[in-house]
Amino acid sequence: MKKIDIHTHIIPEHLPKWSEKFGYKGFVFLEHVKPCCANMMVDDKFFREIQDNCWDPQVRMNECDHHEVAVQVLSTIPVLFSYWAQPKDGLEVSQFLNDHIAGITQKYSNRFVGLGTVPMQSPDLAITELHRCVKQLGMAGVQIGSNVNQENLSESKFFPFFNEAEKLGACIFIHPWEMIGRQYMEKYWLPWLVGMPAETSRAICSMIFGGILERLPNLRVAFAHGGGSFPFTIGRIEHGFNERPDLVAIDNPVNPRNYLGKFWLDSLVHDAKALQFLFDLAGIKKVCLGTDYPFPLGETVPGKLIEEMNFDEETKNNLLWNNACEWLGRMV
Ligand SMILES: [Zn+2]
Repeated sequence: MKKIDIHTHIIPEHLPKWSEKFGYKGFVFLEHVKPCCANMMVDDKFFREIQDNCWDPQVRMNECDHHEVAVQVLSTIPVLFSYWAQPKDGLEVSQFLNDHIAGITQKYSNRFVGLGTVPMQSPDLAITELHRCVKQLGMAGVQIGSNVNQENLSESKFFPFFNEAEKLGACIFIHPWEMIGRQYMEKYWLPWLVGMPAETSRAICSMIFGGILERLPNLRVAFAHGGGSFPFTIGRIEHGFNERPDLVAIDNPVNPRNYLGKFWLDSLVHDAKALQFLFDLAGIKKVCLGTDYPFPLGETVPGKLIEEMNFDEETKNNLLWNNACEWLGRMV
């Protein structure tokens, strides 16, 4: 059965020394320490070790072939969002990363679809780069973070960006990053295990309560990691909406449950009952295979969880292929 993986990350093999070029610290740099392996560094601080499947399209295609993944949707690694940088520098970083992804999707157009990254710290520049991504680079849309320098996506200054994405027919993938409370829970990998699911729920709630999904019904948004903690806490969220509308319903009077089935979620929940719950909640047409390839919190065998579920072939085909095409807005 053909599979599209909507949640995979890629990085150029070599990154410019942006910290030197821009004259301030905080940018990611790659140190190639041994064959097929590099250290992601943030200045002189070790962030993570990565392998060549993070940058080499041929290695990725070999691994995809092994797992029968026909197409990967490529997006940058969230640590590269660089929303904290000066806007013009954030734009330059985005352009560099987007040109890299576009080079791969143009060379291997039947194997990869691209999502760009945009400097959300400047909604105007984000719109400019969004246009370039879609109109010039042939990308399906963009990936953005769950917050922008701790500002929620419901902030009115971000609305023109979402409005433009809807107009352009660009899809948006929302990925948790800059996890709230990270500094209080570094131990046990809690920013990833606790912070990320909370961040994704923060983003979904912001998009709903801020009225973005209400005002832009044709905006195609997908959220990573099965929507994080949102699906399991929708009851609490709805109850809060009903009981304290003075706090919750101030920008959008519509019940949050009404938006279930109006956005997409990836399937990355690592648990069959949780995945079944997602299907029940969002509908079988709104869940897409997403694995977080090539990272360790991802699904090691792409699509295994879906394929092991007791679904008929048509349903599996929707989850592994058709739903992703709907979200991307193109037949792959
Ligand atoms: Zn990811």
